[in-house]
Amino acid sequence: MSPFPTTRNLQPAAAKSAAAAGILYRGNPPALPKRQRVELRCQKCGSTDLKKVSLVYRDGLSQMKSRSRLVGLLFGAQGPGIITGTSVKSGILQSELSRSLNPPSKWSYTKLMGGFFVLTCAALFAYIVFASASAPPVSTLPVKLYVFLAPVVFVFFLALIWRRNNLIYPRQFADWDRSYLCQRCGTMSTHDP
Ligand SMILES: [Zn+2]
Repeated sequence: MSPFPTTRNLQPAAAKSAAAAGILYRGNPPALPKRQRVELRCQKCGSTDLKKVSLVYRDGLSQMKSRSRLVGLLFGAQGPGIITGTSVKSGILQSELSRSLNPPSKWSYTKLMGGFFVLTCAALFAYIVFASASAPPVSTLPVKLYVFLAPVVFVFFLALIWRRNNLIYPRQFADWDRSYLCQRCGTMSTHDP
């Protein structure tokens, strides 16, 4: 008798016990978005093998996640420093193709707040340096200027971000969402679903 039937029988049993033990294989194919085929034609080469840009992008992201998980598994035993190094690196570890297909992003209000906080601290520091260097009747003009001008500039940037996030971003995202990548020549084209 050949040993093959035994090995073949062992495989499902092992998989079943793993499932019974509650082990989930998160990198399994069902977790990845299925390759979507649409009956659209590439405007350049006429190929019908088009893939939605958002799916290519998501594919790249999930590949990146499973790869960083694997690296974490391999090197995790060597120390927490390497794990942190990997998680930091995983942000950059995205496939070249996927990265070129990044969706448009919203502008951050938090960054604006952070920027203004840093600016205010710097201005305050500069004023302290200026005040300690000048003769006793220290001019309060710089402070008055800042108090009047900062809110105006702040509101201006606030309006700029609001305009971008509420008027421009939805249109850019919709365009991105209906973009298709030709699997034969790599040309991007937009089609309505
Ligand atoms: Zn093409």
